[in-house]
Parts: sequence; C-alpha cells; structure tokens
Amino acid sequence: MNGIQALVNISYFVVAVLFILGLKAMASPVSARRGIVWAGVGMVIATLVTFLTPDMKNFALMIVAIIIGGGVAWYLGKVVKMTDMPQMVAVYNGMGGGAAAAIAALEFARGDVHGPVATTLAVLGSLIGSVAFSGSCIAFAKLQGIMKKAWRLPAQNAVNALLALAAVILGGVIVSGSLADPSAYLIAFFVLSLVLGLVLTSPIGGADMPVVISLLNAFTGLAVGLEGYVLGNPALIIAGIVVGASGTLLTQLMAKAMNRPISNIIFTPITGEAQAGSGPQGTMKEVSALDAAAMMRYAQKVIIVPGYGMAVAGAQHKVWEMAKLLEEAGVEVRFAIHPVAGRMPGHMNVLLAEAGVPYDKIFDLEEINAEFPLTDVALVIGANDVVNPVARTDKSSPIYGMPILDCDKAQNVIVIKRGKGAGYSGIENALFFQENCNMLYGSAQQAVGEVITQIKTMG
Ligand code: NDP
Repeated sequence: MNGIQALVNISYFVVAVLFILGLKAMASPVSARRGIVWAGVGMVIATLVTFLTPDMKNFALMIVAIIIGGGVAWYLGKVVKMTDMPQMVAVYNGMGGGAAAAIAALEFARGDVHGPVATTLAVLGSLIGSVAFSGSCIAFAKLQGIMKKAWRLPAQNAVNALLALAAVILGGVIVSGSLADPSAYLIAFFVLSLVLGLVLTSPIGGADMPVVISLLNAFTGLAVGLEGYVLGNPALIIAGIVVGASGTLLTQLMAKAMNRPISNIIFTPITGEAQAGSGPQGTMKEVSALDAAAMMRYAQKVIIVPGYGMAVAGAQHKVWEMAKLLEEAGVEVRFAIHPVAGRMPGHMNVLLAEAGVPYDKIFDLEEINAEFPLTDVALVIGANDVVNPVARTDKSSPIYGMPILDCDKAQNVIVIKRGKGAGYSGIENALFFQENCNMLYGSAQQAVGEVITQIKTMG
C-alpha cells in the first residue's frame, strides 16, 4: 500500500469514528450541537479525502458539483424555518437515495459491476435508493402542502405487491448475467422502482408521515451503504450503515410511540377523511385571557403541552416567560412532550431548549401521563392530535391505540389555538368539547402575550 492510500484509509477510519461519536452526542439535547459539528467535520474530511483517492478523475466537475450542492444546502440551511425542517429532511433524504441509485445506474451503464455479489448489492441498492428518492419526493410534496390529497388506488396493496414483485424479477434477471445487452431491462427496472416509491407513499397521509420519513431515511442509508460496497468506498459504507441503523431504530421508536406496527402504517394508512361527518358533537366553550390567566395564577400545578401551533407561531419564548411568572407566584409548572408533537422528532424539545426552559422541567409522555389527574390546569398550546382522547376511547377512530398525553384527565384544560381547525391527521378533537375544556382563541404568540399581561396585573 502506498503512502497516499494509507493516508486515505486512516482518514476514513477517523471519519467513521467522528460519525459514530457525533451520532452518540446527538442523543442528548445537551450535547447535540457538538454531535452535529463532529459529524459535519467527518463529512468534510471524507469529501476532501476523495480528491486524494488514486485514479480519481474529473476534479473540475467534482468541484463544480460541491460548490453548487454546498451553496444550495448552505442557503437553505440558513433560511429554512424550524417548522419546515421535515420537508428539508425529506429533500435531503431523497437526494441521498437518488444519488445512490444514480451511481449504480452509471456503474451498470459503464459495465463496471462485476461478479454476483457486487451485482446483487448494486441491484438492491438501486431498488432501495429509487424507492427512497421517489417516496421522499411525495413526502416533500405532502409536507409542503403541494399535494393535499392522499391518493389510494383500488386494490392498493395488490398493486404494491405486483410492482415490488416485477422489480425483484427484473433485478433477478439482471443479477443472473444471462443478458447480452441488459440496457432495456435496466431502464425498466429503474422506472418500476421509482413508480413503486410513488405508489407506496401516495396513500400515506396525516399523522403517519413522521414514521414514513424516518423509514425512507433508513432506506437511503441502506442504499448508500450497498453502493459503498460496490464502489469499494469505506466512507460510504460506514455513513450508510450509520444512517440505515439509526433510521431503522428511530422508525421503530416512532411506530411504538404511535402504537402502530410499521406494516400497518404502510399498508393501512390513516386518512382524516374516514371521520368526515362523524366527529364529536357539542359546543366548544370559549374563555378570555383574563380567566385563563386567573385559572393558572391561582393553581398549584400546571402542565404545559406544546404542539405544532406553538412552533409555527414561534411562541416558545413567550411561553417560557409566562411559565416563569407562574413559578414566581408559587405555581408548579412542567412541560409535557409527546414523541410526535410538532413536525419532527424532538421538535418541541429543541424549541423549548432554545427558549431556555431547563431540561428538568420537560417530561416525556410515559413520565408525566399519570400526573394529569393531579393537575389543576393542562395548558395545550397549538397541540391537537397528540391530545385527542378518541385515540383512547373510540375504537372506530383511525388513530385508536396511539398513546396521547392525557390532558383530558386534568381538572381544567385550556386550549390555545386560532379557531376550530382539526389536527394534522384531519380528525376532530373530542377534548375540545369536554366540560372541563376551555378554548382561548388566538395565535399562540398573541394569546400567551395577553395571558402574561393579565398575570402581571394580578400581582
Ligand atoms: P397538530 O398538527 O395535530 O395540530 C396543530 C394545531 O395547532 C392545529 O389544530 C391548529 O389549529 C393549531 N395552530 C396552527 N397554527 C397556530 C398558531 N399560529 N397559533 C396557535 N395554534 C395554531 O399538532 P400536534 O403537535 O398535536 O401533532 C403533530 C401531528 O403532526 C401529529 O399528527 C403527527 O403525527 C404529525 N407529524 C409529526 C411529525 C413529527 O416527527 N413530530 C412529522 C410530521 C407529522 P387552528 O388551525 O385552529 O389554529
């Protein structure tokens, strides 16, 4: 091994260590920022080392691609709003899967894939990468609100199975190496794989999207790892394995948090339309900012439940200001976070941490659910699906079985939201019609601001 090759190999080892340590650090909000930096440094080293790889050509093209790709990512990273982060993750994810599939397509076109093992892995990587690419495009369109409807074909599951079978058979023919010119088969294989991604993801909507994004992320990791083997690139193999493994674990955790098996999420998607016209009956009781402030100011225990609406309103700083005022008045204030609150895993934790809420005041669902019956006021700020009791009580509801924060069991509930809008899943919320529930209408930032003003007048 010459000196340059040894340097490349050592660098890849350092990169692997940085990726793994970075990922470990990301597991806690305290060290997450450090983890991002480590993983980023690893990625920069891996990119630079590529230029040293013996026999590497097309340096000018590589530099142009890095400048364009890096420039776009830098700009988007600066301007994207926290609430739009899932769309961005979907795009990046799709790009990773698409790139893995494109590399494989190129290797096949050049006739550079040799031997049954490499061909099998390249075919598998292409299939998984293509599904991740087209599936992520649909996920992006849905999260961005471009695609509002969930498209479900008649006999959807049979169509999925047929498409998958056809892609596997074509892939098998390519792997067998029996074709003199496999070009037509390769094109048909890639088209089928892309269509499979579209058809699999289109019917999935509403509350299941977080799990789907995480699953597609795991697919991308797997595809990248497989193509890394085909190209003989250790950095791709390691990065792919890390992404694939963490994506798989996250998918399992989220599916567990929603109490839905992954197969159920993909093959029996939730659609809010299923409930149209059959929602909870009754009226919602409105409350003024003054009354809401008094209920909390003279309470002993308050639990705040933030949701997507708090994020979109950017109200986390005001919410923490209000919590501090209540604490100064002797009220015990805690925050309860549902695993899929907001629009990405850890969304609420990040926002509350940014506002300065100490970690020891933030509780997960399992830690705090038993506390709601002992709580004077549960203040729900822009959350909806994650506090919908039909998930516990109504067997006919599409979200039946999903664990929720048991706000409905608190002595009093105050819900801050702008109007009577349904949650992300499109399902009406029975909590809002309960006797102990009071609606404080308004955008979260403005409504909490008014409550703060009222609390201050109470001394
Ligand atoms: P929901 O999306 O269910 O509900 C948010 C509520 O906030 C709406 O009912 C809306 O009502 C209200 N709202 C919107 N804007 C404002 C505002 N400016 N001020 C005050 N309220 C506002 O939120 P949850 O957090 O309860 O649930 C998250 C949902 O998102 C779940 O279904 C989850 O599965 C899904 N999801 C989660 C992801 C994740 O990883 N966490 C990723 C993708 C989806 P109104 O219009 O009346 O104001």
